[in-house]
Amino acid sequence: MTERAGNPRNSSTDENVSTRQPAVILDLRWLILTLVLLSVLATLGNSLITAYRVQRDALMDHALQSNSAYASKVASSLSEFIHSAQSHLRYSADELGKEWGNAKVLRAEAVRLQKQDADFNSIAIVDTNAKVLEAYPDTLQINGSTLRSDAIRKAIDVKRPYISSAYESAAGNLVVFVSEPIYDSSNRYIGIIGGSIYLQQDSVLHTLISRHFNHEGTFAFIADQDRQILYHPDTSRIGETLGWSKTVDAALRGESGSVAVPNYKGIPMLAGYAQVPGAGWAVVVQQPREVSLAPLNTLMHDMIFGMLPAALIGFVLIWIGALMICRPLHQLSTIAGQLAATQASEQLRNVKAWYLEAFSIRQAMLAGVYLLQAKMGRLSQQALSDPLTGLANRRAMNDELRGLEQAGRTYSILSLDIDHFKRVNDTFGHDKGDVAIKQVAETLLSHSRNGDFACRAGGEEFLLILPETGVDSASIIAERIRQAIATCDISGVGHITASIGVATCEHVSTTSEVVLKRADECLYRAKQGGRNRVESSPQSGSE
Ligand code: GH3
Ligand code: MG
Ligand code: MG
Repeated sequence: MTERAGNPRNSSTDENVSTRQPAVILDLRWLILTLVLLSVLATLGNSLITAYRVQRDALMDHALQSNSAYASKVASSLSEFIHSAQSHLRYSADELGKEWGNAKVLRAEAVRLQKQDADFNSIAIVDTNAKVLEAYPDTLQINGSTLRSDAIRKAIDVKRPYISSAYESAAGNLVVFVSEPIYDSSNRYIGIIGGSIYLQQDSVLHTLISRHFNHEGTFAFIADQDRQILYHPDTSRIGETLGWSKTVDAALRGESGSVAVPNYKGIPMLAGYAQVPGAGWAVVVQQPREVSLAPLNTLMHDMIFGMLPAALIGFVLIWIGALMICRPLHQLSTIAGQLAATQASEQLRNVKAWYLEAFSIRQAMLAGVYLLQAKMGRLSQQALSDPLTGLANRRAMNDELRGLEQAGRTYSILSLDIDHFKRVNDTFGHDKGDVAIKQVAETLLSHSRNGDFACRAGGEEFLLILPETGVDSASIIAERIRQAIATCDISGVGHITASIGVATCEHVSTTSEVVLKRADECLYRAKQGGRNRVESSPQSGSE
């Protein structure tokens, strides 16, 4: 034992065993659980990411389309307004052409135009020298003065309907001026009539645009052809000239549509744009991207909580399934560690192998266990029996005697030795000697009862153990055996004889060694007494 443990060759052999257990070995159930958990999480994550992207794109598309639609709507409302304002001015211009010299008519027309539709914050009638013939409301106090702004100069020079850029008026207001030329009855160009829209105060622009917008975060602004802001919800920006702007530039080119673009502060916006026909202005409607995507958070929250129960149920079901699949494999692997155990086949039969693979493994293991047990049975049979006669050998006899001792049973022992067997060998040959040995073994068996135990103790010596048999009965049996051997005609040998010693153990305290020794002494006496006879030991009680 010590030598084995200290032998380096043996330890290196152990290291080379291919079935060596790795340092970390995973349990199949945990392996499946981990895989299931990972796949559930991956599926959940993938679904959420896909849903997020689809919903985000849908929301952005929707915001872009509606902003584009709003921009077009505002542009067309403005266009309608300008068209109607121009036709009102046109009508007045025609009336004034007929009554140019009549100051009362001029005043009446200015008052009517300003009050009637509230299209304009103020009205001015100007001759071709830019002198104000009439202006309303009176608070302007420009009657009789000559206007010097480029916008008025240009409105007079073009001699046709005109819409100015934003400019600062004589009264100090930031305005857009819309005008019509006035011709007298002989078609002579005599002046203009125009209305101002005040950009920084409540005007028709504010009314028109605020009518369209009540969405949180969505707003519109208007820029003229010089990129000057005419309207913006942040009034401080009105009049500001914009730099490069993708949306404004596109609208000024006459395009309409939508685009996701950062604003001048770098904040991502979803913008729609359109041009105002007739005025050439750009209308931009935009909304911060973050505001458009705000419903996404609620949606994702709802989705996660909507999917979780199903995912949990799925996970639990798969986990139960994994346990059911692993159970027979787990049991089989436990039994595989102790296949040599006597209860291994019973345990294997109890495993509920409910699917093909586990069933096949179980059947293969059962076949292996049967083979192993049969082989072990054969080996132990060989280890305990005499190959020539088939009788038990001395080792088996010792086991039997130990069993009787432990059970506290009484017994007798017959010790038999063939007389002058050397001569048999010498005379007839070793093979014939074997035949004689086998014949004696058969005689012993034929004279023993169920429960008796015959063995070949070595060479031509035999022992017969007779449980629960006293010395007298044992002696009678010994005598019968002796006679049977002596009278048997053995083929190729003829007659042989044997001597038998009989000893009995009638007290549990007497050891089997003592009984054997006594039987041998009796046998010796029988040999000494002339052979072919039975000698028995007196009972221990009578010694
Ligand atoms: P005794 O009457 O005193 O017993 O004389 P013996 O010749 O029988 O005794 P001995 O012990 O001198 O000789 C036993 C012989 O049995 C010697 C041996 O060759 C022979 N023998 C032992 N085992 C076998 C065997 O398996 N087969 C054969 N053929 N002979 C065996
Ligand atoms: Mg002998
Ligand atoms: Mg002998």
